[in-house]
Amino acid sequence: MVIKYAEFVVSNSDVSKCPKSRLPEYAFIGRSNVGKSSLINMLTNRKSLAKTSGKPGKTQLINHFLINKNWHLVDLPGYGYARVSKSSKKVFQKFITQYFSFREQLVTAFVLVDIRHNPQPIDLEFMQWLGENGIPFSIIFTKADKLKPKAIENHINDYKNIMLETWEDMPNYFITSSTKNIGQDELLNYIDGLNEN
Ligand code: GDP
Repeated sequence: MVIKYAEFVVSNSDVSKCPKSRLPEYAFIGRSNVGKSSLINMLTNRKSLAKTSGKPGKTQLINHFLINKNWHLVDLPGYGYARVSKSSKKVFQKFITQYFSFREQLVTAFVLVDIRHNPQPIDLEFMQWLGENGIPFSIIFTKADKLKPKAIENHINDYKNIMLETWEDMPNYFITSSTKNIGQDELLNYIDGLNEN
Protein backbone atom coordinates (compact mmCIF):
# COMPACT_ATOMS: atom_id res chain seq x y z
CA MET A 1 0.00 0.00 0.00
CA VAL A 2 1.13 3.52 -0.74
CA ILE A 3 -0.43 6.27 1.34
CA LYS A 4 -1.63 8.94 -1.04
CA TYR A 5 -4.10 10.61 1.25
CA ALA A 6 -3.76 11.28 4.97
CA GLU A 7 -5.92 13.80 6.75
CA PHE A 8 -6.58 14.66 10.40
CA VAL A 9 -10.24 14.08 11.27
CA VAL A 10 -10.89 14.67 14.98
CA SER A 11 -9.37 14.56 18.47
CA ASN A 12 -11.34 13.75 21.56
CA SER A 13 -11.26 11.98 24.89
CA ASP A 14 -14.55 10.16 24.58
CA VAL A 15 -15.04 7.01 22.54
CA SER A 16 -18.67 7.93 21.87
CA LYS A 17 -17.44 11.01 19.97
CA CYS A 18 -15.14 9.07 17.62
CA PRO A 19 -16.15 9.09 13.94
CA LYS A 20 -19.38 7.21 13.31
CA SER A 21 -18.23 5.80 9.97
CA ARG A 22 -17.74 2.05 9.75
CA LEU A 23 -14.28 2.28 8.18
CA PRO A 24 -11.79 -0.22 9.61
CA GLU A 25 -9.33 1.32 12.04
CA TYR A 26 -5.90 0.61 13.49
CA ALA A 27 -4.77 2.05 16.81
CA PHE A 28 -1.20 2.96 17.75
CA ILE A 29 -0.28 3.11 21.41
CA GLY A 30 2.79 2.97 23.61
CA ARG A 31 4.70 4.70 26.36
CA SER A 32 5.40 8.40 25.93
CA ASN A 33 8.53 8.99 23.88
CA VAL A 34 8.48 5.50 22.34
CA GLY A 35 8.53 7.07 18.86
CA LYS A 36 4.82 6.81 18.03
CA SER A 37 4.43 10.17 16.33
CA SER A 38 7.61 9.63 14.33
CA LEU A 39 6.34 6.22 13.24
CA ILE A 40 2.96 7.60 12.18
CA ASN A 41 4.70 10.31 10.20
CA MET A 42 6.99 7.74 8.58
CA LEU A 43 4.07 5.46 7.68
CA THR A 44 2.14 8.30 6.10
CA ASN A 45 5.17 9.99 4.51
CA ARG A 46 4.28 13.23 6.30
CA LYS A 47 6.62 15.40 8.32
CA SER A 48 4.18 16.38 11.03
CA LEU A 49 0.84 14.65 10.66
CA ALA A 50 1.22 13.38 14.22
CA LYS A 51 2.77 15.86 16.60
CA THR A 52 6.07 14.62 17.96
CA SER A 53 6.05 15.02 21.69
CA GLY A 54 7.70 18.22 22.80
CA LYS A 55 5.73 17.83 26.00
CA PRO A 56 5.40 14.15 26.84
CA GLY A 57 2.14 13.29 28.52
CA LYS A 58 0.29 16.26 27.04
CA THR A 59 -1.08 14.56 23.96
CA GLN A 60 -3.79 12.71 25.84
CA LEU A 61 -6.42 12.44 23.18
CA ILE A 62 -7.79 9.91 20.72
CA ASN A 63 -6.70 11.27 17.32
CA HIS A 64 -8.34 9.96 14.16
CA PHE A 65 -6.66 10.27 10.75
CA LEU A 66 -8.34 9.23 7.52
CA ILE A 67 -5.97 7.30 5.28
CA ASN A 68 -6.50 6.79 1.55
CA LYS A 69 -10.15 7.57 2.29
CA ASN A 70 -10.75 3.95 3.29
CA TRP A 71 -9.33 3.38 6.77
CA HIS A 72 -8.62 5.24 10.00
CA LEU A 73 -5.29 5.43 11.72
CA VAL A 74 -5.82 6.19 15.42
CA ASP A 75 -3.11 7.84 17.47
CA LEU A 76 -3.82 7.08 21.13
CA PRO A 77 -2.29 8.81 24.17
CA GLY A 78 1.07 7.70 25.45
CA TYR A 79 0.80 5.85 28.72
CA GLY A 80 3.02 5.61 31.77
CA TYR A 81 4.67 8.98 31.81
CA ALA A 82 5.84 9.67 35.35
CA ARG A 83 5.08 13.39 35.33
CA VAL A 84 1.40 12.90 34.57
CA SER A 85 -0.49 13.37 37.81
CA LYS A 86 -2.22 10.35 39.25
CA SER A 87 -5.66 11.76 38.57
CA SER A 88 -5.03 12.51 34.89
CA LYS A 89 -3.42 9.09 34.49
CA LYS A 90 -6.63 7.57 35.76
CA VAL A 91 -8.72 9.61 33.33
CA PHE A 92 -6.77 8.62 30.30
CA GLN A 93 -6.56 5.01 31.34
CA LYS A 94 -10.32 4.96 31.58
CA PHE A 95 -10.90 6.39 28.14
CA ILE A 96 -8.22 4.20 26.61
CA THR A 97 -9.84 1.09 28.06
CA GLN A 98 -13.24 2.38 26.94
CA TYR A 99 -11.89 2.93 23.44
CA PHE A 100 -10.64 -0.65 23.24
CA SER A 101 -13.73 -2.09 24.87
CA PHE A 102 -16.33 -0.31 22.75
CA ARG A 103 -14.78 0.64 19.42
CA GLU A 104 -16.21 -1.98 17.07
CA GLN A 105 -14.36 -0.59 14.04
CA LEU A 106 -10.99 -1.44 15.59
CA VAL A 107 -9.31 -4.19 13.55
CA THR A 108 -6.09 -4.39 15.49
CA ALA A 109 -3.93 -2.44 17.92
CA PHE A 110 -0.23 -1.81 17.47
CA VAL A 111 1.62 -1.63 20.78
CA LEU A 112 4.90 0.24 20.35
CA VAL A 113 7.92 -0.63 22.44
CA ASP A 114 11.41 0.81 22.28
CA ILE A 115 13.70 -2.00 21.08
CA ARG A 116 16.53 -0.73 23.31
CA HIS A 117 14.80 -1.45 26.60
CA ASN A 118 14.27 -4.68 28.45
CA PRO A 119 10.63 -5.76 28.60
CA GLN A 120 8.88 -3.27 30.87
CA PRO A 121 6.06 -4.25 33.24
CA ILE A 122 3.75 -1.48 32.03
CA ASP A 123 3.95 -2.68 28.41
CA LEU A 124 3.59 -6.34 29.38
CA GLU A 125 0.61 -5.52 31.60
CA PHE A 126 -1.04 -3.54 28.86
CA MET A 127 -0.59 -6.38 26.34
CA GLN A 128 -1.87 -8.84 28.93
CA TRP A 129 -4.97 -6.70 29.33
CA LEU A 130 -5.52 -6.58 25.55
CA GLY A 131 -5.15 -10.36 25.33
CA GLU A 132 -7.52 -11.00 28.21
CA ASN A 133 -10.08 -8.74 26.59
CA GLY A 134 -9.80 -10.44 23.21
CA ILE A 135 -8.40 -7.37 21.45
CA PRO A 136 -6.07 -8.34 18.59
CA PHE A 137 -2.69 -6.65 18.68
CA SER A 138 0.81 -6.69 17.23
CA ILE A 139 3.99 -5.33 18.74
CA ILE A 140 5.97 -2.65 16.92
CA PHE A 141 9.58 -2.45 18.05
CA THR A 142 10.78 1.13 17.46
CA LYS A 143 14.20 2.79 17.06
CA ALA A 144 15.86 -0.32 15.57
CA ASP A 145 18.56 1.95 14.09
CA LYS A 146 19.91 2.35 17.63
CA LEU A 147 20.98 -1.30 17.98
CA LYS A 148 23.08 -3.79 16.05
CA PRO A 149 21.21 -6.78 14.55
CA LYS A 150 22.48 -9.18 17.21
CA ALA A 151 21.28 -6.91 20.01
CA ILE A 152 17.88 -6.59 18.29
CA GLU A 153 17.63 -10.37 18.18
CA ASN A 154 18.58 -10.64 21.87
CA HIS A 155 15.98 -8.09 22.93
CA ILE A 156 13.26 -9.79 20.92
CA ASN A 157 14.24 -13.11 22.49
CA ASP A 158 13.87 -11.51 25.93
CA TYR A 159 10.32 -10.56 24.97
CA LYS A 160 9.63 -14.04 23.60
CA ASN A 161 10.89 -15.71 26.77
CA ILE A 162 8.71 -13.56 29.00
CA MET A 163 5.61 -13.66 26.84
CA LEU A 164 5.72 -17.40 26.26
CA GLU A 165 5.41 -17.87 30.01
CA THR A 166 1.79 -16.79 29.75
CA TRP A 167 0.97 -16.99 26.02
CA GLU A 168 0.95 -19.89 23.59
CA ASP A 169 2.62 -17.84 20.87
CA MET A 170 4.63 -14.67 20.62
CA PRO A 171 2.35 -11.96 19.22
CA ASN A 172 2.95 -10.85 15.67
CA TYR A 173 5.70 -8.21 15.66
CA PHE A 174 7.43 -5.66 13.44
CA ILE A 175 10.90 -4.14 13.66
CA THR A 176 10.94 -0.47 12.69
CA SER A 177 13.01 2.67 12.55
CA SER A 178 11.47 5.98 11.62
CA THR A 179 14.81 7.63 11.06
CA LYS A 180 15.99 4.87 8.68
CA ASN A 181 12.56 4.15 7.23
CA ILE A 182 12.63 0.52 8.29
CA GLY A 183 9.41 -1.48 8.50
CA GLN A 184 7.16 0.86 6.54
CA ASP A 185 6.35 -1.61 3.75
CA GLU A 186 5.82 -4.53 6.12
CA LEU A 187 3.40 -2.57 8.28
CA LEU A 188 1.44 -1.06 5.42
CA ASN A 189 1.22 -4.41 3.63
CA TYR A 190 -0.02 -6.01 6.82
CA ILE A 191 -2.76 -3.39 7.19
CA ASP A 192 -3.60 -3.76 3.50
CA GLY A 193 -4.02 -7.51 3.95
CA LEU A 194 -6.35 -7.03 6.93
CA ASN A 195 -8.39 -4.40 5.06
CA GLU A 196 -8.97 -6.88 2.25
CA ASN A 197 -10.40 -9.53 4.60
P1 GDP B 1 6.12 9.77 20.96
O1 GDP B 1 6.11 10.49 22.26
O2 GDP B 1 5.93 8.30 21.18
O3 GDP B 1 5.17 10.32 19.93
O4 GDP B 1 7.61 9.87 20.39
P2 GDP B 1 8.25 10.81 19.26
O5 GDP B 1 7.90 10.34 17.91
O6 GDP B 1 7.94 12.22 19.61
O7 GDP B 1 9.80 10.48 19.48
C1 GDP B 1 10.43 10.61 20.74
C2 GDP B 1 11.92 10.80 20.53
O8 GDP B 1 12.49 9.63 19.93
C3 GDP B 1 12.27 11.94 19.59
O9 GDP B 1 13.44 12.55 20.07
C4 GDP B 1 12.52 11.27 18.25
O10 GDP B 1 13.42 11.98 17.43
C5 GDP B 1 13.12 9.95 18.70
N1 GDP B 1 12.82 8.88 17.72
C6 GDP B 1 11.60 8.51 17.29
N2 GDP B 1 11.69 7.48 16.40
C7 GDP B 1 13.00 7.20 16.27
C8 GDP B 1 13.74 6.24 15.50
O11 GDP B 1 13.22 5.42 14.74
N3 GDP B 1 15.10 6.23 15.66
C9 GDP B 1 15.73 7.10 16.50
N4 GDP B 1 17.05 7.01 16.58
N5 GDP B 1 15.06 8.03 17.22
C10 GDP B 1 13.73 8.08 17.12
